[in-house]
Amino acid sequence: MKKEYSNPVYKVPWLLKDKKPTDYFASWLCVEKDKEVTLSLRVQLKDKKNLPKELVIAYDKTLCEISTKQGKGTENEKADPAKNTHYAKITIDKDDDYKLEDEVKIKVIKDINTAQTIKVLCDDKEAGFLKLYPNIVKKLNVVCVKVNASIRNKNENTGIIKGKSNLEIYLLESLIKINISEEITLKITLNSDKTPNTDLRLPTVTDGTSINMSGNIRGTKFSDYMDSKLKQKFPMPDGSGKYDKYLRLYFFKEKAFIVDKGNNVPIARIGTPIGGERGFMFDGISDIDVAHEAMHAIALGHAFGKNENINATTPYLYEYMRTENVMDYANLDHKEKYATWKWQWDKLRNSKLLTE
Ligand SMILES: [Zn+2]
Repeated sequence: MKKEYSNPVYKVPWLLKDKKPTDYFASWLCVEKDKEVTLSLRVQLKDKKNLPKELVIAYDKTLCEISTKQGKGTENEKADPAKNTHYAKITIDKDDDYKLEDEVKIKVIKDINTAQTIKVLCDDKEAGFLKLYPNIVKKLNVVCVKVNASIRNKNENTGIIKGKSNLEIYLLESLIKINISEEITLKITLNSDKTPNTDLRLPTVTDGTSINMSGNIRGTKFSDYMDSKLKQKFPMPDGSGKYDKYLRLYFFKEKAFIVDKGNNVPIARIGTPIGGERGFMFDGISDIDVAHEAMHAIALGHAFGKNENINATTPYLYEYMRTENVMDYANLDHKEKYATWKWQWDKLRNSKLLTE
């Protein structure tokens, strides 16, 4: 990760660790064109008795507009005859370590296809960096399927949609916008010829009350069975299904379980396999869980795990419940989870479900 995130290597020459300059990992910002965002800054000074004369953000005025509490960035004709670089002043405090709340406003004014770097200069020397992530908006179509499965009885028993706004917020962190969002009902208690469909009462897929997500229907995995039912109900003239290229989120009223080492383990949701483009939500699901499962379905594995879980899908792993990442479970510890990381943005934005 260090290798990937320190290209080029930034160092803070005076901030020493074991007598060596500290490596500096710049933050990444992914922001839509023409949208202004506000940033807070943390500043560490080498010597508060010998304050720098000038602390500025240097940026290309054709790339973005930046202002700070000191005002809008201005050109410096002497330093830059082409006048393309503007400089926005940052407040210099007398503390050796201080935070400037909501100090900087940035608006990116053009399409970025490759990452860009903005520099902070302290008396003309590099003192900080901000990376701008490509800002081309990607689009995702989502279908929320309220399933009427009615396993236990013949009454109407349809799933309830949850978590769409959470998903929308998390996806926006990597500039993925929900394009078409449909909500439909899928009744699977009847076959197309109106005869009763009793497939979901087969002992291979239910214990009589809950759905067995490890189970199958005549050899077909339950998740594949649901996809085929959806396709059947919404066929396209070319033989495909209307929602084949949508993220498919199925909502059930029923409870569910998986079979693990012979035991039935209750589950509220499952997004399987990773990148499988579909997720299944059951009784007891929370809004934040829906977003988490949807992220599994698009491209992401968990943010935690052991060394043996490291692979191409989950190249970087942390300890369980220790991060604020959406793909962790800090919420079970009553902590907020809100973040997706830059390497996850790369994976999400590579999903073949997305269009530009
Ligand atoms: Zn998960």
